[in-house]
Amino acid sequence: MALWSDPERWHRLREGLDCPICDRGRPRDVVAELETAYVTATEQACLFGYCCLVLKRHAVELHEMPEGEAGAFMLDLRELSRAVQEITGAVKLNWEIHGNTIPHLHAHLFPRYVGDRFERRPIDPREVEPSAYGPGRFDRFVADLRQQLGRA
Ligand SMILES: [Zn+2]
Repeated sequence: MALWSDPERWHRLREGLDCPICDRGRPRDVVAELETAYVTATEQACLFGYCCLVLKRHAVELHEMPEGEAGAFMLDLRELSRAVQEITGAVKLNWEIHGNTIPHLHAHLFPRYVGDRFERRPIDPREVEPSAYGPGRFDRFVADLRQQLGRA
């Protein structure tokens, strides 16, 4: 990883001194807000219903957060999971937490479907063509998500 080979740069990212999310005040593509985190989504997604749950404040690892806050983040994750399952009818929900590029705690949610483009291989979030959304479907997904989360 190029970022890890530059200890000073990595330190500044980890500490939130040069965090692109904190610098902007919030992540890009916010579609909803939960107690501890923002929900982001984009039409340029590799799977229908892809979302990301981004902690509102800067933290890197779950174990570095106070227990109550970490628990609240997991409850937000649970709420988003339920909402996306309800909307998409996915056969499985895959969660991924990395932070290798932006070490600001965030969890990717990839709904999986029978015959989806990643069946029998790892998910590659860069494969966004063709779009997972037909015309108007992304706006509908966002509206459904806000309704499911009680934030319509
Ligand atoms: Zn940050």
